[in-house]
Amino acid sequence: ITLLAIESSCDETSAAIIKNGKILNNIVASQLIHENYGGVVPELASRAHQQDIVRVVNEALTEAGVSATDLQAIAFTRGPGLLGSLLVGTSFAKAMALGLNIPLIEVNHMQAHVLAHFIDDPKPSFPFLCLTVSGGHTQLVIVKSPLEMEVVGETADDAVGEAFDKAAKMLGLGYPGGPKIDKLAAQGNPDAFPFPLSEMPELKFSFSGIKTSLLYFIRDKGEDFVKENMADICASYQSTLIKMLINKLKKAAKIHKIKEIAIAGGVSANKGLRKALEAEAEKQRWKIFIPDFQYCTDNAGMIAMAAHFQFMAGNFVDQSVSPMPRMRM
Ligand code: ATP
Ligand code: MG
Ligand code: FE
Repeated sequence: ITLLAIESSCDETSAAIIKNGKILNNIVASQLIHENYGGVVPELASRAHQQDIVRVVNEALTEAGVSATDLQAIAFTRGPGLLGSLLVGTSFAKAMALGLNIPLIEVNHMQAHVLAHFIDDPKPSFPFLCLTVSGGHTQLVIVKSPLEMEVVGETADDAVGEAFDKAAKMLGLGYPGGPKIDKLAAQGNPDAFPFPLSEMPELKFSFSGIKTSLLYFIRDKGEDFVKENMADICASYQSTLIKMLINKLKKAAKIHKIKEIAIAGGVSANKGLRKALEAEAEKQRWKIFIPDFQYCTDNAGMIAMAAHFQFMAGNFVDQSVSPMPRMRM
């Protein structure tokens, strides 16, 4: 079984080929244009997808030594994401499937972030708990089977990836901010400055408070102080975010009595978070799963992995399908 998968939900145009459950490649074209605007500009994102998608798909096929006529189905991200961006991948997948007379598979982007754990060994066993942390979501998910997932905790306001990106913007570090804060944090003291931990009940997250406190901190201390203490500020801010994540993860693991723990999504690339999870795993005797860097941020490899499970279950969609920007799990 050979499938082509396409991801275009935000600002990465990506294509991957999966053969009998094995990922053959994962081509990702990241849109650099948004750096000039300090965030993703939806109109520019959809235009860039439109410009790049044929090249990216051709590269995936050629590199894998697969011709279009070898494909059994074409998968695409239906949502959640930006409508204009999703439309490009969806329309492309529909046209190609129509031309080849093969079935279409829709994939939920958040489910795919979780299923990235089935690309390489070791693979988690069911049920496991996954903390999905990305640019638009912060979710605690109980994964009962590849296609059965339950969100047991979410954010009441911003996603943790947004908390990284907005902080970087306030600090004048540019976009995307996560990797930049991560790098600076490694050289700073995490106890240098206190930032508030949010006090949300149960398994709810909140990141708007800490963002506001950073805004006041910058305003009160002034530009020069901020520049001179950048590494310490990043380290302190990042470690507070990580504490909030680990606290809720601990709570969820306890409530649901699960000891197999995974992290997924763009923020799971964060070195501080990966280290903190390893340390906590030792204390709690968790078995943990951390994805390869290429499968943390948006990529079609994870869409292909999800598509493989859908294909096995016989889940196909017809040509009337359209994107779902707010698609739920
Ligand atoms: P969603 O998956 O919720 O629809 P998205 O697809 O835009 O959102 P991803 O591509 O999964 O999000 O992740 C992007 C986010 O990950 C950005 O907020 C980015 O700053 C963050 N990120 C990437 N690398 C790191 C890192 N090393 N440390 C912290 N955050 C990071
Ligand atoms: Mg992105
Ligand atoms: Fe994503």
